[in-house]
Amino acid sequence: MFRFRRRKVRRRSRRTSSVTKHYVEHKEEARELTLARLAHFNQHYGLKWNRVAIRNQRRCWGSCTSLKNLNFNYKLILLPPHLADYIIVHELCHLKELNHGKAFWDLVEETIPDYKERVAQIKAIDKLGHSIQVLEKISIEYEKAAKS
Ligand SMILES: [Zn+2]
Repeated sequence: MFRFRRRKVRRRSRRTSSVTKHYVEHKEEARELTLARLAHFNQHYGLKWNRVAIRNQRRCWGSCTSLKNLNFNYKLILLPPHLADYIIVHELCHLKELNHGKAFWDLVEETIPDYKERVAQIKAIDKLGHSIQVLEKISIEYEKAAKS
């Protein structure tokens, strides 16, 4: 009984540390990508934010606070680029429209005309979970589909 419990705890902590390692190793890459794409889309929107944080979040891809702080999941770098772009534009537009009303979606549509399709694709990915392995597999599938 005691040994069994100990083994279980050890296994769990090892998995946690490998996930943390992946985050530490990719955080700066995620920050660079996010800042570059924010700057790109903000040429159109011309909005102002306070600061950008890259986090290791379990479920959430991004968020925008009323203090104009933008938070993004570092796993954006594992998403197909057109979906990462959608997440970035979504949070960028929240700087102007903090709700999901029509004005918000009109704003998103200005740079992502096919946003509805991308929302559906992200919902499908969310159902599979955000594990590194699953996301890497999905990205490869999208790449293959884009080439054919
Ligand atoms: Zn939103």
